Amino acid sequence: MKNLVIGGAGFLGSNLCDALLDRGDKVICIDNFITGSRSNIEHLRDNKNFRFIEADIITLDIEKINFPFVPDIIFHLASPASPKDYICYPLETLRVNSIGTERCLNLALKTGAKFLFTSTSEVYGDPIETPQKETYWGNVNPVGPRSVYDEAKRYAEALIMAYQRIYKIKVYIPRIFNTYGPRMRLDDGRVIPNFIAQAIKKNPLTIYGDGKQTRSFCYVDDLIKGLLLLVETDYHMPVNLGNPDEFTIIELANKINEITGLNLPLEFLPPVVDDPRKRRPDISLAKKLLGWAPAVNLEDGLRRTLYYYMKGEK
Ligand code: UDP
Repeated sequence: MKNLVIGGAGFLGSNLCDALLDRGDKVICIDNFITGSRSNIEHLRDNKNFRFIEADIITLDIEKINFPFVPDIIFHLASPASPKDYICYPLETLRVNSIGTERCLNLALKTGAKFLFTSTSEVYGDPIETPQKETYWGNVNPVGPRSVYDEAKRYAEALIMAYQRIYKIKVYIPRIFNTYGPRMRLDDGRVIPNFIAQAIKKNPLTIYGDGKQTRSFCYVDDLIKGLLLLVETDYHMPVNLGNPDEFTIIELANKINEITGLNLPLEFLPPVVDDPRKRRPDISLAKKLLGWAPAVNLEDGLRRTLYYYMKGEK
């Protein structure tokens, strides 16, 4: 298969490029390095099936790029994805998910390619229903600091569904819940990279608010498998992808202490504005549709991630 991966130098994007190349596919990767990094794709530099194009799909219309091949699938993963990043790049986040998504859709329309867009559990906002099913419409503050991400992703979903209804494009909308693993930036502000960076420096583990808020953490390899299974289906509505094992942030900090044997103190800091209190995916649809469920539990995933940051290899 021939793939175009937009945002391919990011955390998820570079792991996706690896998985596609490992199965013998060809990959064109586009990134503007706003939150991705050259080091994530450095190892692919001499791979004859890999081509990298540095471009920003907000300022450059991807329909105007001269690609070495016509893609069978376009993966649009280009967006800041950690709260720290999207609050730092609010307009870029809104634009890459709106203008950027429409450009990708037009390219898919022109080439006949399938189109996958990485949506997010943030479309559910601070959910009143838990676990969250795809049929839940969410509880989003449309003008809060997180809205630049939440509403941009919700707009993108609406846009994609409109293109699907009008033009019958084969679209895929995974709603990705908290995912972690090798190649997350240690300074991206998310809880697992923060805790790992703090453990490396033997600093206290920072807890925002009371630490009783929950998240459900999926190891990156599981998530990538889910994406690759999804694009093989004929299902064009949103599908939750995530690990349903739910932990409070205090439990996560305790796990880091257990695994590292460091027993670092917990430092409680003020809560984050509009921080969702609970997040846990209902993955019944993904199980039925894809025969998929995460295989890596939190402890193993954290061990693998810590190994990567200590040794610099997966
Ligand atoms: N969090 C924390 N300490 C940190 C970083 C994050 O307690 O050093 C909390 C954050 O307030 C949220 C949860 O961990 O409740 C997950 O945050 P993250 O930024 O990883 O992702 P989110 O799910 O909010 O997008």
